[in-house]
This record gives sequence, C-alpha cells and structure tokens, in this order.
Amino acid sequence: MSHTEYSHQELREAICKVGYMLWSRTMVAANDGNITAKVDDNHILSTPTGVSKGQLTPDKLIVMNLDGDIVEPAPSGIHKPTSEVKMHLRMYRVNPDIKACVHAHPLHGTAFAIKGEALTKKMMPESVIAMPEIPLAPYGTPSTEAVPDSVEPFAFTHKVALLEQHGALSWGSDVWDAYFQMERLEYTAQLTFLTRLINGERELPADEIEKLIGMRAQYGL
Ligand SMILES: [Zn+2]
Repeated sequence: MSHTEYSHQELREAICKVGYMLWSRTMVAANDGNITAKVDDNHILSTPTGVSKGQLTPDKLIVMNLDGDIVEPAPSGIHKPTSEVKMHLRMYRVNPDIKACVHAHPLHGTAFAIKGEALTKKMMPESVIAMPEIPLAPYGTPSTEAVPDSVEPFAFTHKVALLEQHGALSWGSDVWDAYFQMERLEYTAQLTFLTRLINGERELPADEIEKLIGMRAQYGL
C-alpha cells in the first residue's frame, strides 16, 4: 500500500503500529528513535520527543513542513517535536520519492555502527536481492546538521544506513516500507554477529551474487 492510499488518520495509526514494532523488536530503548511519514508533498507527520515508541497514540503526532516548522501541533496539546527530525527532513528534501523515514537504535545494528563497520557481506539470496549492502554514515553529533550531511549521500542509492556510533536510519515508499528496511538491517546485523560466533561467515559464490544482483530489477529495486 503506498502512502497515498492512507487517510490522514490511517497514517497516524500506521506510525503508531510501526513504533510498537520497533519497541517490541528491541530496536529502541526507552524514548529513543523517531518515525516520520509524508502526508503530502510538503508536510510530514512526526513522532514527538520523550515518548516510548511502544506507547505512541495518534494524538501525540505533530504535522511539520519540510523546513521543520510546526504546522499542526499534537492534538494531545503537550507533545513536542524531536530534534532528531533534521535527518528525516533532509532525506525528504533531497529525494522526493522518499515518503517515510525510521530512526532507531537496533541492538545488533548499533553494535556494528559503534564498531564502525558497514555490512557488505553477501551471504543469503533474499538479502542480496533486497539489500545488497548496508553502508556506514560517518559520525555526526545528534541533532546537528552533521547527521543529515552524513546520510544524504545515500538518499538515492540505498534505503538504509548505519549511523556511526549512534544507530541507523531507514527510508522508503511508505511507513511500512521504511520499517521493513530497518527490520532487514537488524536481521542482517544479527546474522553477521551469529555467523561470526560459529566461525561460519561465508559469502555466496561471485557468479551467484552477480545473478542475484541482476534479479533486483524484476523486483523494482
Ligand atoms: Zn538516535
């Protein structure tokens, strides 16, 4: 379902469900992480600061323009925007095809972000087709322009990036697409961690990788 098929209220509810998924899959701790989605070409819905993603409700979400100005405060009357929305806004301004962004601190993905290692090993077919590599965006101080500057180069070429010593950002054609990119990032990080534990990290043969990369187009990737 593309974002254009959601009513405004349905989009609010979808963001809350995605928040619950992030929290229940240990991809955020306490009030960490944030989710945004475009409601039209110039406006987004954003999760607020200071709320667990497992406890979002539609009335806690804020409508902002792409400059980050509040256009419609949270109906709750008390919830304020997150300063981390800057990296989301940059992605929307750079690539109009991006309709939603998810920022999280997925446990295993963040371990690799702290180590400073991009995940590039091509170990299983579905991952090679869907997400051949997970790049690493160089460290930037949270809430400064350094974070958007570091992820912007990936806006057209990838749908995820590890944020060095911080966490991860994913983006997509709607809020569920952006969420599932984050889920695949974390799965890949878990798989990398586990295969190293059993000394079993092993890439597919080069000709098979080439064949799988060639199949990406038929999946619209
Ligand atoms: Zn963060």
